[in-house]
Amino acid sequence: MNCREKLKFARRIVIKVGTSTLTHNNNFNLNLYRIEHLIREIADLHNAGKEIIFVTSGAIAAGIGKMNLKNKPENIPENQALAAIGQGVLMHIYEKFFAEYGLTMGQILLTKDNATNEHARENSKNSLMALLQMGAIPVINENDAVAVDEIKIGDNDNLSAIVAVMIDAEVLIILTDIDGLYNKNPKVSGDAKILHEVKKIDDAVEKMAGGAGTKLGTGGMFTKIQAAKLTTQNNIPTVIVSGKEIENLRRVLNGEEIGTIFSA
Ligand code: GLU
Repeated sequence: MNCREKLKFARRIVIKVGTSTLTHNNNFNLNLYRIEHLIREIADLHNAGKEIIFVTSGAIAAGIGKMNLKNKPENIPENQALAAIGQGVLMHIYEKFFAEYGLTMGQILLTKDNATNEHARENSKNSLMALLQMGAIPVINENDAVAVDEIKIGDNDNLSAIVAVMIDAEVLIILTDIDGLYNKNPKVSGDAKILHEVKKIDDAVEKMAGGAGTKLGTGGMFTKIQAAKLTTQNNIPTVIVSGKEIENLRRVLNGEEIGTIFSA
């Protein structure tokens, strides 16, 4: 069975959704249509017997939208405050949509310390596992309101990989604003080609990832490759796929060859 086929049987699945997927691209407002569709898909996967762990970005963007700001502030305390505001806005919406499908979610906010320090990490894991056992859906973000640079993971791609390893997930799916990994930057090279499978993350692959990110999301392809490095070293395949069409989630889990799979 090839690595795509195996995804059909994945039971414990980490889904990471980036800010660009959760917001409209002309302003900082939440894309409610897409969020509703996403939560419905997660609910349906849950009903099909899967264990879904949802890693969400978008807190700072939601805060900016709520406060009607034009831009992301430069200073750290304001960003922390916006994360505090936006995290509540996001959870309110997720809670509402999950409740419509009769499901319960539980929020876990992690920092670098409680995600990586051995003892604290065990506690985080126990909490996550207890949520799964109760049949609730863990919804995870970094604790941006208190985490400053020294204690920050910094981007949710790496956070989702850490979580996937922590709970022995069978696959990590990263929904983003690009179809997958291209051999060169598709925004500048018209002949750029998508790589549907990466077997080994070597220097050439890292070079393809470049730097870039969006105006709101922290990670670009670079942090996604870092994430895939960590997961694949721990035998967890990772798929990067466009989240503009939420049905891509279902298509990936049906074994279709879309996006880029980093096979473990
Ligand atoms: N934790 C940040 C937020 O919720 C996002 C980090 C990222 O974009 O990776 O706004």
